[in-house]
Amino acid sequence: MAKILILGAGIAGHTAALIARRKLGKSHEVIVVSPNSNYQWVPSNIWVGIGLMTVKQVIFPLAPVYKRTGIVFKQAKAISIHPEGDDVSAKQYVQIQYVATDKKDQTEKVEYDYLINATGPKLNFEATEGLGPDKNSFSVCTYDHAAHTWEQLQKCFAKMENGEKQHFVIGTGNGMATCQGAAFEYALNIAFEIKRRKLLNYAEITWISNEYELGDFGMGGAYVKQGGYVTPTKIFAESIFKEYGINWIVGSAVQKVEPGVLSYENLAGEYHKLEFDFSMLIPPFAGVGLKAYNRKMEDITSTMFAPNGLMKVDADYTPKPFEEWKASDWPKTYISPVYDNIFAVGIAFAPPHTISKPMTSKNGTPITATAPRTGMPSGVMGRIVALNIVEQVKSGTKTLRHEASMAKMGAACIVSAGYGIRRGKAAVMTVFPIVQDWEKYPKWGRNIGYTVGEIGLAGHWMKLFMHYMFIYKAKALPLWWMIPE
Ligand SMILES: Cc1cc2nc3c(=O)[nH]c(=O)nc-3n(C[C@H](O)[C@H](O)[C@H](O)COP(=O)(O)OP(=O)(O)OC[C@H]3O[C@@H](n4cnc5c(N)ncnc54)[C@H](O)[C@@H]3O)c2cc1C
Repeated sequence: MAKILILGAGIAGHTAALIARRKLGKSHEVIVVSPNSNYQWVPSNIWVGIGLMTVKQVIFPLAPVYKRTGIVFKQAKAISIHPEGDDVSAKQYVQIQYVATDKKDQTEKVEYDYLINATGPKLNFEATEGLGPDKNSFSVCTYDHAAHTWEQLQKCFAKMENGEKQHFVIGTGNGMATCQGAAFEYALNIAFEIKRRKLLNYAEITWISNEYELGDFGMGGAYVKQGGYVTPTKIFAESIFKEYGINWIVGSAVQKVEPGVLSYENLAGEYHKLEFDFSMLIPPFAGVGLKAYNRKMEDITSTMFAPNGLMKVDADYTPKPFEEWKASDWPKTYISPVYDNIFAVGIAFAPPHTISKPMTSKNGTPITATAPRTGMPSGVMGRIVALNIVEQVKSGTKTLRHEASMAKMGAACIVSAGYGIRRGKAAVMTVFPIVQDWEKYPKWGRNIGYTVGEIGLAGHWMKLFMHYMFIYKAKALPLWWMIPE
């Protein structure tokens, strides 16, 4: 009997758990450890943050799904990995701590034969002074952040209805933040809602981000086919912002957020302040702080994890200049280079480097949009790792037949820009591959045939459809496994 232990029940971990459970006989055990009792469809948090969906629409409790599918669920957080066991037993295990259940704060050693780390990001608000929903800016990164943000946004709408002007600042809250796409989507939704409420005269919206230029999105920008023409995402994004009346500041690192005013430094090394009435700023991501120990209980965290706490996998982490970066630097199977029964998927794995060219300000402050960590690749990674483990268990070999490099995988990004069956809009962008491959595609870095951008009502329908489809799949309802990631 094999024990597959999965840490995290987000897009990556939950996908891996459902697939491993479906493919393995009942004599094998699939265990999920996750502190949140709910599954959340994170992309729809944007709609919670603008009041167009309720929290209930984007979450569901995990326990009944796991009970029905035969997955053991422990509502706990993983604390440390012991890949060699300890002085009591050589059996490898993860130390977990229960949260918010009758076992609250109790610890347990959960043994495994295969371990998948899918713990997602630590939302590292502390990296910027004053950043975050407990301090001076809002967030839509989790459903409770998004609900809180919506409460505050309504106060701004009420003020505008009373003739008071409001300044909205949306973007990234740190020089090394990622997830520009989510912030971009939120900015468009705010603009759409202000227009719908006929409050345009009372609003100013400013985008601030660490991107070198608008439309970089942490993937070094892209050339997309739009209406038959090849257009840089810079032009694509700028024209959307123009249409929605959003001003932009790019190449900037937010360094401090105080009530109603943020300070930032730009690539030219200038320091500026920006006043706001409402700010939603995405934090940088880090690992969730898992530790690792060898059999002698010596700390091996720095062997297994990168300095930012994300887990090292089969990537090429050798430091090298931007000009020497290759598509092949990116991992394929997400296996730990140190232990061949440990994998890290989704946001939990450490990328070899950014995709966008690293930049620093004239004063040496790093200001680079870090690599996008989106849902589709996270789900695909969860799937291929589960499939490799299943094949290893069944064949008794160390086969790793399934691969999912971000340099060989496409991604579809649907940025909603308004809501409603008839008046909704979304910008749809597909890129292939996510990481540019200049050797294979010397002209555009990507396959221009599959790298497309369009904006319109159909995109909105697609986004809405995907919301319901992916929640259906995550609930493991009949034929869920036929739905792709
Ligand atoms: C607002 C927003 C909008 C987005 N929109 C899109 C979009 O439109 N399209 C798209 O493709 N992507 C989008 N993304 C990105 C997408 O949500 C992520 O790529 C995806 O959620 C990553 O999946 P994951 O499983 O790696 O991490 P997560 O989904 O964050 O899951 C991590 C899991 O680990 C658990 N966990 C945390 N700590 C521990 C611990 N110590 N032990 C055990 N478990 C732990 C968490 O509770 C959670 O269950 C968006 C992200 C945000 C924030």
